[in-house]
Formats: sequence, C-alpha cells, structure tokens
Amino acid sequence: MTTVRKPVIEVRRSQRRRRTVSAYRDGGRIVVLIPARFSRAEEREWVDRMLERLDAREQRGKRTTDSELSLRAQRLAQRYLPDHPQAGEPTSVRWVQNQNGRWGSCTPADGSIRISHRVQEMPDWVVDYVLLHELAHLVIPSHSGVFWALVGRYPKTERARGYLEGVSAAAGLGIIE
Ligand SMILES: [Zn+2]
Repeated sequence: MTTVRKPVIEVRRSQRRRRTVSAYRDGGRIVVLIPARFSRAEEREWVDRMLERLDAREQRGKRTTDSELSLRAQRLAQRYLPDHPQAGEPTSVRWVQNQNGRWGSCTPADGSIRISHRVQEMPDWVVDYVLLHELAHLVIPSHSGVFWALVGRYPKTERARGYLEGVSAAAGLGIIE
C-alpha cells in the first residue's frame, strides 16, 4: 500500500509584509509567508495559490534532469517509431552545456544522444521534436528523404523546425539541424 504524504504547511504572518506572499520548502515543510493583515479567507486562498505555484515550479525543474529526458525519449520512440527498435534503445540521453552549434546530436555507433541546454526552456512540443529528430538518426544517420519521412510522423515537426529557425535567427546563433 502506498500513502500519499501531504506536506505540512506552516503559515507565517508578518507585520512587515504588505502585499507580498511567498512560499518555499524547508525540509519536509512548506512555509508560506503572508501579510499579517490577511483574513482567514485570504490566507486559505493564498496558501492554495502558492502551493500550486510551488508545484508548477518543481514540475518545470524536473525537466532539467537526464532521467526525465530519457523517459520522454522512450515514450516518443514507442509512439512514433515503434517499427524501429533501435530508436527505442538509446544507450544514453543527456542534456549538455557544451553544444553551441546544434540543438541535439547523436552518435549512432554507440547509441548516445545529447540535447543542448538551450532547448530546456522551449515548449514541450519543441523538445519532443528535437528528441525525435535524434532518435530517428539512430535509425538513419543522414538527412535523407527516408529520415524526414520518419521525423514527419510527429505532427508538429514543421512547426517545431520553424520555431527553432526563428530562435536561431533572432539570437544570431546560426544553429543548424
Ligand atoms: Zn539531424
């Protein structure tokens, strides 16, 4: 049996605070700081709101881990490239900082995939495209017609390529696929 552990919430009222509310984790607790003049109703409303924000912040943070990225790659391969088992078995999928000329890269020989940290802040559907692009390279190393047909199975491929082109141009990065 699993139990869902609810966090202990500690609300601290501060005379110095006028309007600002903040929340942070402190060990197993979540501390919410509110102005002393808040009513009980305002307190409840703001505690709920801050818990949601904290949760959203932590969800976003998860994206920065390699294990989350690997899981994402696995799901994409299962969904779009189920007929190409080699795409479903990359040996490693990692975020990297030192890749300035590309969004992603892969080494078909050892099955490793690296995704630029620049992609981390982009929308999910763009991250998915970059991942699928590299997964398809595990099947076909070149940018051939067959390769683009595989990548084209992902419905937002064209949109994502446009997005990346736009980002690259705007930032003067000159990043190519
Ligand atoms: Zn490529």
